[in-house]
Amino acid sequence: MCARLANMGITDKNVLDAMTDVPRHWFIDSLHKSLAYEDVAISIDCEQTISRPSTVAIQSQALEVKKDMKVLEVGTGSGYQTAILCAMGARVFTIERQHGLFIKTKALLDALHYKAKCFLGDGYKGLTEVDYSPYDRIIITCGAPYVPEALMKQLKVGGIMVIPVGEQQQEMLSITKNGESPEEWIQKPYGNFKFVPMLDGRQFQHRRRP
Ligand code: SAH
Repeated sequence: MCARLANMGITDKNVLDAMTDVPRHWFIDSLHKSLAYEDVAISIDCEQTISRPSTVAIQSQALEVKKDMKVLEVGTGSGYQTAILCAMGARVFTIERQHGLFIKTKALLDALHYKAKCFLGDGYKGLTEVDYSPYDRIIITCGAPYVPEALMKQLKVGGIMVIPVGEQQQEMLSITKNGESPEEWIQKPYGNFKFVPMLDGRQFQHRRRP
């Protein structure tokens, strides 16, 4: 898988090393384990998906993570991208809106000794109950219809946000925040992708009545 990523233009050694070190099959249910090292998105709980390895690599490289940076992730999902960021040496804060995934993935990341701090919440707002901002980096792993203002506020000046923006399909953007005013934000495109949508609010799954 990593040889394929290197051929695709992933040159950041920190990304390639992390993707070599973190077994993707740990984050995939037994039904789909045979696909773990294919470049495909795979269903996880709560009708969500774990992103393709190439997408994880492109986002991780665009994020330009350095050791000990504070990184906020929106969309914990399976926890795979979270684990990659931890393996890259980041201090990771990750938000998930689906209660079921939050519980399951927090337990998995704890069991695997990844030190990410997991939160149940609405990533449009960033972290509100506890404030660890400003972040050096922010990564959004669901399709955002627009760039959330609250998240740009929580990004350090000099920091980078990587975000797929769009409704049906998304354009991957990195936004470098060179100052507080939007005129000082520099965007760089990384091509088109298809993510599950970024939705408002938290989601608790209700048991069906018998
Ligand atoms: N990084 C994940 C990607 C999972 S898919 C992985 O590697 O597995 C995207 C995730 O974003 C889903 O779990 C979805 O529930 C979550 N999500 C969507 N909107 C959100 C929001 N507003 N706040 C937090 N998480 C959100």
